[in-house]
Amino acid sequence: MGEFIGPVAGVDYPTRLAQLRSWFATDADCADYLEWLRWPDGFLCPHCGATSGSRGADGLRRCAGCRRRVSVTAGTVFQDTRTPLTVWFEACWLMAVPKNGVSALTLSEVLPVGSYQTAWTMLAKLRAAMSSADKDRLSGVVEVDEWFHGGVAKGGSSLTGKNLVMAAVERRGGARGFGRARLGVVTGRSAWELRGFVRAHVEPGSRVITDGLSAYRRALAGYVHEPLNESAPDAAEPHELLPGVHRVFSLAERWLLGTHQGGVKREHLAEYLDEFCFRWNRRNARHRGMVFYRLLQHAVAAPPVTYKHLVRVGAAKPVKPLPPGNRGLPGTLEVVGGHRPWRKTAEPS
Ligand SMILES: [Zn+2]
Repeated sequence: MGEFIGPVAGVDYPTRLAQLRSWFATDADCADYLEWLRWPDGFLCPHCGATSGSRGADGLRRCAGCRRRVSVTAGTVFQDTRTPLTVWFEACWLMAVPKNGVSALTLSEVLPVGSYQTAWTMLAKLRAAMSSADKDRLSGVVEVDEWFHGGVAKGGSSLTGKNLVMAAVERRGGARGFGRARLGVVTGRSAWELRGFVRAHVEPGSRVITDGLSAYRRALAGYVHEPLNESAPDAAEPHELLPGVHRVFSLAERWLLGTHQGGVKREHLAEYLDEFCFRWNRRNARHRGMVFYRLLQHAVAAPPVTYKHLVRVGAAKPVKPLPPGNRGLPGTLEVVGGHRPWRKTAEPS
């Protein structure tokens, strides 16, 4: 067995936006990359499991088993999209690589996506792919705390219209700082609510550090619970007692208020928090392009999401006024001259 070598920068994923554009010059280049990610061992028919299929002039595979035409985007978040893959790839880059991701408004201004609503839907689909990542639970020493999104100080009196967010952040100690983070929305601070979040995100047996909220005592049966006494006369400030969760809370809040202008609706908050964690958990990637690669990997593995599902039937649609002349069919970013460094060997027929 050879040593496992991870994806290589500049070969398996692009390292800069300019490189992204030179590799993924056409939709065919993008589709080939998605095939390489989705079927690393060669074509696999999602209908019948056959492993051979010829490629037609339209780029679709004709399955040798069931004779169906199979698109590499079928069964992924890109299914049935009218937006060219070149545009999708650049959207993925803008969402994954910059520290703050990208807002739908900015995306609609910098890419030929046709409308704000299309931009919002694209990002929401990619966000669903991000939510499907990071399912393994945190472990070791984990800080857990709650926070009211929208700016009520802890212990504040008004809960009306506020969103209670919970965080779990691994504490690595010393120079290693903080590890992975999880965020989630809960409806109250009962032991039952707290326990639901912790059970979902922290490995039983881990050492969990919380503030002195009494509900944590019952919530954390099965964990090594270390409650802090914030009211002790010599106690440090909360952000010093639980530095990991307070760092994540303040960055997440700044991101929601800054990049997203505080416009995230309550029913979408959980997915936005997942997006925040997706980048936080990969903040130490050696190359930021690696985060783009991981996003695409999850996008081809995640099931398709419909627009209706994204906006929650009956919920208000995310509509913003459009600048004139910005409505219409999505454009393309296709240019000539792509090459495919990810294909180290001859392309299978
Ligand atoms: Zn088949």
